[in-house]
Amino acid sequence: MRRKLVAGNWKMNGSLAGLAELDGIGAALDPRIDVAIAVPATLIAPAAARAAFPIGAEDVHSADSGAHTGCISAAMAKEAGAAFSIVGHSERRHGQCESDADVKAKAEALRRHGMNAILCVGETLDEREAGRAVAVVTAQVRASLPEGAAGDWLAIAYEPIWAIGTGRTATVEDVEAMHGAIRATLVELLGAEPGAAVRLLYGGSVTADNAAALLHARDVDGALVGGASLTAAKFAPIIAAG
Ligand code: 13P
Repeated sequence: MRRKLVAGNWKMNGSLAGLAELDGIGAALDPRIDVAIAVPATLIAPAAARAAFPIGAEDVHSADSGAHTGCISAAMAKEAGAAFSIVGHSERRHGQCESDADVKAKAEALRRHGMNAILCVGETLDEREAGRAVAVVTAQVRASLPEGAAGDWLAIAYEPIWAIGTGRTATVEDVEAMHGAIRATLVELLGAEPGAAVRLLYGGSVTADNAAALLHARDVDGALVGGASLTAAKFAPIIAAG
């Protein structure tokens, strides 16, 4: 039985003063649901010291150290208090030109350091309108799945790019169809039991209003929430909907 995971992604938002929101989110924890929030690198240490649930990074470099100006390694994120990191978010795949191979190597770096990973995949609007969404996303899963992929450290987040920050959510039918295709790909690559153990999250304009329908859809094991994770007032009802 896969436990639900409601994860937040603060992106390039938040501040020391804003960490007070973590207290309200902590007050909304539910023993049935795993809750985690990825924050900007500058906030990992104070957030981890304050939160009653796991704090993560939004990205890590695949190397442990070296000449990579502006990057942080998995070991650095862990030392700061991160229990996990997001890898392969579309804002990095597209905004920072990250390839599937980069994303795979980043996830493997997290595993080397005993951290968890939320690996993101998702298609563009053009790809969906061309009828290629399932082919694009399952190809991303195949090419970015790390060595040693297993449900005790890895979750996959399906985030259709056209649904991120747009207020436009995928329909429950679209999400179920895509999660079913991702699940079948995982079972093919990992085997029946390991493939069934990896949690599949949906992300893209998740709010208190649509969370219950999405979180209870077939093969949906949680959500990766952007804008609505920034305040306890918006995030707590999403946890409650799980
Ligand atoms: P929004 O919830 O703001 O659409 O962001 C989704 C997302 O990209 C989470 O990683």
